[in-house]
Amino acid sequence: MPRNSVGPSTSLVEAVLHSPMPQTRSTVLMTRAGRRLGLSDAAVRELAAPAEVRAFRLSVPIGHEVLIFWGVTALHNMAMGPYKGGVRLAGDVDLHETLELARLMTLKSAVVGVEFGGGKTGIRVEWPGVYERCGRDYNVRDLEFEKDVSLAVVARYARRLRHILLRHEYIPAPDMGTSPDHMAMIFNETLDPATVTGKPEGVQGWLPGRREATGWGVSQAVLRLFRQQRRDPADCRVSLQGFGNVGSYAAGFLAQHGVRVVAVADAFGGIYDPNGIDVDGLAQHVQTTGSVFGFPAPHVIDNQALLEIDVDVFIPAAVANCITHDNARKLGCKAIVEGANMPVAASAVDDLDERGIRVIPDIIANSGGVVASMEEYSKSLSAARISREGVFGIITERIESALADAEQTALEHGCSVVEASIEIAMRRVYDAMVVRRFL
Ligand code: NAD
Repeated sequence: MPRNSVGPSTSLVEAVLHSPMPQTRSTVLMTRAGRRLGLSDAAVRELAAPAEVRAFRLSVPIGHEVLIFWGVTALHNMAMGPYKGGVRLAGDVDLHETLELARLMTLKSAVVGVEFGGGKTGIRVEWPGVYERCGRDYNVRDLEFEKDVSLAVVARYARRLRHILLRHEYIPAPDMGTSPDHMAMIFNETLDPATVTGKPEGVQGWLPGRREATGWGVSQAVLRLFRQQRRDPADCRVSLQGFGNVGSYAAGFLAQHGVRVVAVADAFGGIYDPNGIDVDGLAQHVQTTGSVFGFPAPHVIDNQALLEIDVDVFIPAAVANCITHDNARKLGCKAIVEGANMPVAASAVDDLDERGIRVIPDIIANSGGVVASMEEYSKSLSAARISREGVFGIITERIESALADAEQTALEHGCSVVEASIEIAMRRVYDAMVVRRFL
């Protein structure tokens, strides 16, 4: 058998070791930034590579069944601080996506100047299969049941990774499919408030404003753009993909400034109202039904139609790679503020540049969560208090200063703000790795 082939009896670990890391948006952009910075190919490779990857099986008893879930924790880089990154529960989680997200966390912490490294956990939860195993019909969704299962999965995960959590080696937070309530399960296991951020109100070490932090930061990046364009927010229109933690709060804060939220789509469908959607009403509808679908609006749309709607800013706040080379030409927006992680695929970066569609990069636009996490972490260590307004003020200041730095670097180096932000982050991580003799 050739050395690199993976036979039927090959273990998961062997399969992983033999699968080459695919080119991703961050590796492509890191390679280009590495050249501009004069770094060697070997140094860029190490900056892109994870320090450690843990794959695990979780056996979770639910009623009379034991459900099996597979997951992976990618510990990407800790040159600048503990591995930091959310726990994602989704049906399409895979190793390379989790690695990419961990890499983004390293870059994000570095570019906004918080003393964290990058990590990420992905646990594959396929809901149709879970419903079936538990003798239920997936077409009759039961949000309480899903919550109970997901809490049990995260509790089991915390027990499994207890030792690295207790050393503050990896500090989790919420991501897609998890919420502050899931972080409470992690705290229950460690009983140390500094082992996890995004804890719910009332749990030791919780941070006012943490839940809304990412959405707040996204709204600040959008409002900054309108200010730069000398536009009155009340004359501006936005659309969003995703109305979960990030999307719903971003939309809410923008609506408070008079911005018209005209279209929203999520995993189940979408709505479009050219006169503006009642964002508070929509949030209530989503809380009870789990989707924007069914909220009264003149037009029902799908995710493709969403991209084509004419708006000042499109805010992807759901999945990765929703904007690709294939649909970049049809986009109806003038700018994109990346609420989600890497919603603009590597294949679309140059298309958007050519079309003059400005992109405010994920590692700055959605950094509100990690900035707040640093506040929560440090306050958990010191038992100090801070107000919600204080947290929001710190996020706004970090995002505005990171964007100003990236715009300056982009001007000096003749590249986009997306590329400049990666360059700034890489330089900082590289310097820390060299100082600590990791390179
Ligand atoms: P969430 O689980 O609260 O909400 C996700 C939303 O995306 C839901 O509305 C869901 O219906 C929608 N969605 C899922 N799959 C979809 C699909 N295929 N097409 C269209 N919509 C889909 O998640 P969240 O915490 O709001 O995170 C959203 C994104 O933001 C993710 O990319 C996440 O990595 C990123 N992010 C989150 C945070 C945070 O603090 N929560 C911080 C930084 C980045």
